[in-house]
Amino acid sequence: MTLKKIQFIFIVISLLALVILIRNWYSTYNFNKNPIPQKYQEAIAKEEQRVLVNMQKNFGFQYKVPIIITDKIPGKIYGVTSLGQDGSVKIYLNKKVMKESIEYIISNVIAHEYAHAVLFKIHAYNNKNDGHSKLWQNTCVKLGGAKCEQYVNSHDVIMKKLPF
Ligand SMILES: [Zn+2]
Repeated sequence: MTLKKIQFIFIVISLLALVILIRNWYSTYNFNKNPIPQKYQEAIAKEEQRVLVNMQKNFGFQYKVPIIITDKIPGKIYGVTSLGQDGSVKIYLNKKVMKESIEYIISNVIAHEYAHAVLFKIHAYNNKNDGHSKLWQNTCVKLGGAKCEQYVNSHDVIMKKLPF
């Protein structure tokens, strides 16, 4: 192969890499700028419904709380449950990790956070392990969570209303 040919191949590969880089950047930019895709919203609503049906079956009530999608949660945590001083409970899902973790959020995080909400409702919150007591774990399983463990190094229960 001549030097010219090698140079040409090198340029083509570099250009291809650049195109892929720009496409990825643009796709992330679009995702961050816009509301989450319809199919994500539908999947979240469907999972919430499933959790509420399990709640009815195992606890005899359906305690529905607002699920808020936000990019204001610091760090890489998937979700947060907050309890305001007025007793209002809200679940926040982290939009920043949603693009790469939507499946995990659907199968694990919604039931996980709802288990915190249920314990607030029945006044059984226990701050041991940042709210991840044995009762919390059982509640998470009963709500249909696929993996009812505390997130590693994360504090996802916040005892105040969040400003977003
Ligand atoms: Zn938790």
